[in-house]
Amino acid sequence: MEIKMNQQSSEICDILFIFIGDILDDDRSQIPLGIAFLSGQLKKKRYSYKLLDLYNLGINFEEKQLSSKFLEELLLIYKPKAIGVSVSSYYLDLTNKFIDLLKDIIKRNKLWLPIILGGYISLIPNVLEKTNADIVCCGEGEKIIIELIDLINWITDRKNEDPNFLSNNAKHILDKLKSIQGIKFRDDIIYPYENKRKKIKVHSNAPQNPIGNLDELEFPDYDIFDFKRYNIDKTIPFYAQRGCYNHCTFCDIIPFYGNKIIRRFSPEYIIRWMKFVQNKYNIQIIDFMDDNFLNSRPFLETLFSLIEKETPLLKINFQARSSEILRFKDLISKYKQFINCIEIGTESYSYSQLKRWNKNITPLENIQANKLLSELGVSYMNFYLWLDEKTTIEELDENVDILIEQPEVPIIQSSIKIPNFIMSYEISAIYDRLGRSSVRNIPHLFACERFLNETNEIAQKINVFYTAFKKAQEYNNIDQNIIKYSTKYGLNNNKEILNKINKISTGFFQVANEIMKKRLYLSINLAEEIKNKKFIRKLKINKILSNYIQKFKEDSDKILNPINNLNIDFNN
Ligand code: SF4
Repeated sequence: MEIKMNQQSSEICDILFIFIGDILDDDRSQIPLGIAFLSGQLKKKRYSYKLLDLYNLGINFEEKQLSSKFLEELLLIYKPKAIGVSVSSYYLDLTNKFIDLLKDIIKRNKLWLPIILGGYISLIPNVLEKTNADIVCCGEGEKIIIELIDLINWITDRKNEDPNFLSNNAKHILDKLKSIQGIKFRDDIIYPYENKRKKIKVHSNAPQNPIGNLDELEFPDYDIFDFKRYNIDKTIPFYAQRGCYNHCTFCDIIPFYGNKIIRRFSPEYIIRWMKFVQNKYNIQIIDFMDDNFLNSRPFLETLFSLIEKETPLLKINFQARSSEILRFKDLISKYKQFINCIEIGTESYSYSQLKRWNKNITPLENIQANKLLSELGVSYMNFYLWLDEKTTIEELDENVDILIEQPEVPIIQSSIKIPNFIMSYEISAIYDRLGRSSVRNIPHLFACERFLNETNEIAQKINVFYTAFKKAQEYNNIDQNIIKYSTKYGLNNNKEILNKINKISTGFFQVANEIMKKRLYLSINLAEEIKNKKFIRKLKINKILSNYIQKFKEDSDKILNPINNLNIDFNN
């Protein structure tokens, strides 16, 4: 297998970073920024590093033999002294498989090669026991990575001179590891090729102090990335501030940083960096990834006025809360010429959902923020959550009712993929075709798309049930059969059970019905929205699509009705 890497070289490197992200995504627009920050610090210390971003490499890690061969070749080329795996908590299973492969290779080749985990995966309880990695770095990694690589180099040098160095100095090495704040490590890191020891001890060191002065950090090193592999289009990401003062229930930011304090690079540092990337990479847009960009007036006033003076040709994207968009409307209005797009964590238009998620924002603030930006002509994108296990039909209703009233977004910066249609129905063939096309200009439909995607699995189950039920009803006269079997198994003697079954069934039918109605409604809306788009006309399917929508509207009632008509009287 050919090894496709960001940089080809056979030099020994101090650390090989491996990024496990959306491996199968064929259109990723984000580069792993955390690794760029770590690399910047390593560069200053003249440590060498390489990156393997698993994204779009064309490797199926289910094919154990192939991927093992690939990784083994890679380790022989780069001869890293450590492996740094950066991953979010979504990819625990994949990380497990991946680390198992690495461990096999390490054992087979009798290497001493610690595997260090970092990123949001560190928040998973007992992550070392779960993944078999040796060390996990908790929270921000810039200070820790230097301490770890210093120590690993020290050990490797001595081990090269004395093969028994590890076992002869186990206590000393473990003590050194224990002195690094902010990590957890397994004590079998000293004995890498021993067969599974009965009891592995994981040491949790004291937490690290957050980096007080971010300006002490070196610029992130973006040279580690092969820009051609990412769909970034003259945009580069940066974290200007770390942390958030709020604590939404679904967000990992507070557990990750350990407090609600927001730290920031100075505006002067940020401007120096912006000029640097503008010149070096011909960048046009800075994508601030700060979780809550609009929070400090003095910071924003200085930064915005410096951008206006010093980098007038650059534009910026940032993420913000609706309440802060309203609070800083004067600054947004004054500097809108360089604001390319604001990503709003809207989450929901339902009061009870926002309250449940501790968003500390009202639906009205969400609505007003959209209105304000539309009036100012500032482009924005809303991000919605909508669904959690406690979401009610009323909450979905509130969301949809408000969503369809939202104003047009002035200039759209991104596109969405049209999801497959909701049921096994004739129209799905067309939607499959559309599914491969991106649509611009209808940002509020992100929410529809997300809802449809998230309920797809439920819908399929309901759909199977509906189909089966319809067939059964048609061919087997199910109402009569249920009564017959109830009698056969003596259920009709137990009215309590029958009433319960009846109640549960009715509840299920109602919920299923509501979900399907909502999906139909959103899908039809979505179809209506896109039917006049240019690419639909280009595909020459606008007429067919309109006809299908019409037919679908007429048929949708019939599809749902059999359930409504079901009325089994268990008492007869
Ligand atoms: S406001 Fe945003 S960054 Fe802050 S806790 Fe909530 S979701 Fe996270």
